[in-house]
Amino acid sequence: MSGQLKGSSFDALVVGGGIAGGEAALNLANNGFKVLLIEKELSIGGKMILLSKVFPTLDCAACITTPKVSEISRHANITIFTSSEVGKINKISENNFEATIIKKPRYVVVEDCTACQLCEKACPVNVRDQYQFDLVGRKAVFIPFSIASPKAAAIDIENCVLCGACEKACPTNCIDFTQETEELQINIKTVILATGFKLFDPLMIPRYGYGLYKNVITAMQMERELAPTRPFNTVLRPGDGKVPDKIAYVLCAGSRDASVGNPICSQICCMYSIKQSQLLMGALPMADVTIYYINIRSFGKGFEEFYQQAKGMGVNFVKGKIGKISEKENGNLMLRYEDINEGVVKETEHDMVILSVGVLPNQDAAKLFKADELKLDPYKFIYQAESLESPSRTSIDGVFVAGTASGPMDIPDSILSAGSASSEAISYLIQNK
Ligand SMILES: Cc1cc2nc3c(=O)[nH]c(=O)nc-3n(C[C@H](O)[C@H](O)[C@H](O)COP(=O)(O)OP(=O)(O)OC[C@H]3O[C@@H](n4cnc5c(N)ncnc54)[C@H](O)[C@@H]3O)c2cc1C
Ligand code: SF4
Ligand code: SF4
Repeated sequence: MSGQLKGSSFDALVVGGGIAGGEAALNLANNGFKVLLIEKELSIGGKMILLSKVFPTLDCAACITTPKVSEISRHANITIFTSSEVGKINKISENNFEATIIKKPRYVVVEDCTACQLCEKACPVNVRDQYQFDLVGRKAVFIPFSIASPKAAAIDIENCVLCGACEKACPTNCIDFTQETEELQINIKTVILATGFKLFDPLMIPRYGYGLYKNVITAMQMERELAPTRPFNTVLRPGDGKVPDKIAYVLCAGSRDASVGNPICSQICCMYSIKQSQLLMGALPMADVTIYYINIRSFGKGFEEFYQQAKGMGVNFVKGKIGKISEKENGNLMLRYEDINEGVVKETEHDMVILSVGVLPNQDAAKLFKADELKLDPYKFIYQAESLESPSRTSIDGVFVAGTASGPMDIPDSILSAGSASSEAISYLIQNK
C-alpha cells in the first residue's frame, strides 16, 4: 500500500508512525476505517524500533515491533507515506477536515527495490548514520536499518554527488533521480496526532563534555550499541574502540532542570538506565557499572523489583549530582560530584560515561493548524483538554493525541494512550456520521 494514494478521502489521518501512531492506525483499520498514516522518517516504528530490549521484562524490542510494523504495513485499510509530512490541516466542520500532504522524493522506486545493497557498495560518499545516532557512517544511498519498513534504499540528496554509480550498480533499475516532491490534498473526518517526543540535546549542558569528549555518549547511542541491529559486534567506547570496564550513567541529564528549560521528570530515564546497566552486566561481565542519581523513580508495576535486581547483579547506585566531567589523556573521564548522602564533593574515574538524556516536546503538531488552534500545555506538549475524563482529547474537537506527543511516557502507556485516542476517534466518527 505504501507509496500509492488509493483515492483522496480517508476516515482518519494519523500523523507520526511510532508505536503510538501505528497502534492507533491499526485499531481504526481493524474496525473498518480507512487510515492515512504519515511518517516523516524513511521507516515507521519511531524510537521503539531502534531500542535494544524493554524494561522491566527485558523482552527484545525489535521482536515486538517488527511483527506490529509488518501488520500495519500490510493492512488493507492503512495507506502509509514515509518521508512525508503534513503541511496544514483545516477544520471545515465536524467530521470534515482538509489536509495537505507533502511527499518527499526517495529517488528509489520502493516497490522495485530488493534491498540488495549493491548501490550502497558502489556509492563513494560516506556520511554519519542518523539511525545509528552518528556512531558509524553510511553511504549517500542507504537502507535506513535492517528491520526498516519499508526495507528499501533511499538517496540522501543533500550529500549525493550525482555520480550515478548507484544507478549503474542497481540490478532492478529502481533508482529514479527524476522523482519530485508531491503535494496532495486530502479530506479526512478525524485526526490523531502521534508525533512523539524529541531527545534532550546534551550540548545544552557543556560541563558534561558531550561533543567534546568522544567517550561521553547518550543513552540512545548506548541503546544502539546494545540492540540486535547494533553498529559494532560488541559494546565499545567510540574514542578508541576499547571495550569499557568502568562505566558511569548520569541520570536526569536535561530533566528536572529548570536551568535548561525542562523542569519535569522524563519518567523513562531511570528505568531505561537500569535496563541498560543489566544488559551491560550481561554483555561485559567484568565491567563495573555505576549509576549517579538524584532519586530513582521506579514507580511502575515490576519496576522496583527491576531496580533491586540490578543492585543484586552488582550495579553501583550513588546518590550524587554530577558537577563537571573532564577528560584525561587516555580518554578516561573524571567525574566531579556531590555525594548527597555524605555531603562531600568527590571525584572518580570512569572510562565511558552515558548521559541519560530526557524527553522534550516535539512542537511540530501545533504548526499544522491555524495559530493557537491546537493548544499546548505549559511544557509545550499537546494540551489534553480533558486530562482526567478523556486524556486523548485536544483543544480541537475531532483531533486526538496519542503517546508521548502529550507528555513523557513509556511504551505500554503509549500503547494505552493510542487505544484511548483511537476509540475516542471511532466514537467521534460514529456520533458525527
Ligand atoms: C534511550 C531510550 C530507551 C528507552 N527504553 C524504553 C524501554 O525499555 N521501555 C519502554 O517502555 N520505553 C522505553 N523508551 C521510551 C519509548 O521510546 C517511548 O515510550 C516510545 O517510543 C513512545 O512512542 P511514540 O510513538 O509516542 O513516539 P516516537 O517513538 O517518538 O514516535 C513518533 C513518530 O512520529 C514521527 N513524527 C514526528 N513528527 C512528525 C511529523 N511532523 N510528521 C510526520 N511524522 C512525525 C517520528 O519520526 C516518529 O516516527 C526509551 C526511550 C529512550 C530515549
Ligand atoms: S549518485 Fe549519489 S547516491 Fe548514487 S552512488 Fe553517486 S553519490 Fe552515491
Ligand atoms: S536501489 Fe537497487 S541496488 Fe540499491 S538496494 Fe534497491 S535494488 Fe539493490
